[in-house]
Amino acid sequence: MSLLAYEQALEQLLAGACPVQQVETLQSTEALGRVLAVSQVSSLAVPPLDNSSMDGYALRCTDVPTPGTKLRIAQRIPAGSIGHTLAAGTAARIFTGAPIPAGADAIVMQEMCSLESGEKNAAESRIIINHLPKPGDWIRRSGEDIQAGAEILCAGTRLSAPQLGLAASIGIAGLPVFRRLRVALFSTGNELVMPGEVAPADLPPGTIYNSNRFLLRGLLQQLGCQVTDLGIVPDDLAATRFALRGAAEAHDLILTSGGVSVGEEDHVKPAVQAEGDLALWKIALKPGKPLAFGYVRSQAQGQAAFIGLPGNPVSCFVTFLMLVRPFILKTQGAQTVTPSAIRLRADFDFPQPDARREYLRARRNQNGGLELFHNQSSGVLTSAVWADGLIDNPPGVAIRRGQEVSFLPFSELLY
Ligand code: AMP
Ligand code: MG
Repeated sequence: MSLLAYEQALEQLLAGACPVQQVETLQSTEALGRVLAVSQVSSLAVPPLDNSSMDGYALRCTDVPTPGTKLRIAQRIPAGSIGHTLAAGTAARIFTGAPIPAGADAIVMQEMCSLESGEKNAAESRIIINHLPKPGDWIRRSGEDIQAGAEILCAGTRLSAPQLGLAASIGIAGLPVFRRLRVALFSTGNELVMPGEVAPADLPPGTIYNSNRFLLRGLLQQLGCQVTDLGIVPDDLAATRFALRGAAEAHDLILTSGGVSVGEEDHVKPAVQAEGDLALWKIALKPGKPLAFGYVRSQAQGQAAFIGLPGNPVSCFVTFLMLVRPFILKTQGAQTVTPSAIRLRADFDFPQPDARREYLRARRNQNGGLELFHNQSSGVLTSAVWADGLIDNPPGVAIRRGQEVSFLPFSELLY
């Protein structure tokens, strides 16, 4: 079987991703991490009025021809209050956020002013302006942040903290979001043992702890999925079919790890084929060559998507990030589904590239360059913890120290 290019695998997965349609309206305090279903338009300008960006004095510039001019303080405007029209030759004491009184055209910050000494009557106090103001100084204009009628958030946006703050700034308390994806997760492999069930000292020979379950569950949760953990399914055709059939009834996606090679102990392929259909791909991707994609029939909802990931933990991690994540984001209704790479300098040599596209575990050093983890084996999960991103290295391209490479920081991938 010839290898499938990563881009083709991604294209086929995305072509098979059907975005959810159901929308629910949540209080925006509950909407963190969800995907916005309807674009949001502002009914008002933010800020609503011209206001001061400093504590100081509002005045007319023409009243201050030279530094040292004295003006009578005729009114006081704290934030939350409205002043009155500024009479010629007077100033208004004003505070950050307070609306600019009519007639004023600049603010002078209080550090640039001094109170005339010897004043007894505060109402009569005068302020010395030690600075030549220009029209517009320290004034925040109405609509400078948001204009009335502007679209502030578009459908398909994943809501993080700034988006929720912006929605609140135009008075929105409830947001329409797509319902969460329901994902069933199980691991295959007779060698797997659950941490907590068997102590390390009692681990039977030939067994290993099931790390993929925790890895994948975390990755799914970071994408806002509702995860049903079906645990470990033994390497057995009937058991695998049974698990698939049950999961397909109430989930959008069934995600498994292990058992997608074509060894005799790999039952995922025949089980999915019996319960639906699947394509088994060998992707030109390192780590992470084998991947299965298909569907499982469901009586309740027609079908559930199926993705089978390779068992090696780092292969599982990389294929999730580069293929499953875009699939999930598209199904979840998100607009941006693929990560953006940045160009950074390699502070290492990588003379023997693979013929497959390779995602190298790397991290930024203090000089702004990248370093590689010393062991890039697909079984070494330490590399993913040490790293803060993946270098996306094209097939067959050697890297020389000092060259620029494409780097995908985990901030682009792990949320
Ligand atoms: P497989 O894809 O089933 O052939 O597994 C490939 C390798 O990954 C084998 O060394 C497995 O023991 C290991 N592996 C499979 N599933 C897991 C898992 N859930 N956690 C840790 N390692 C696993
Ligand atoms: Mg296996």
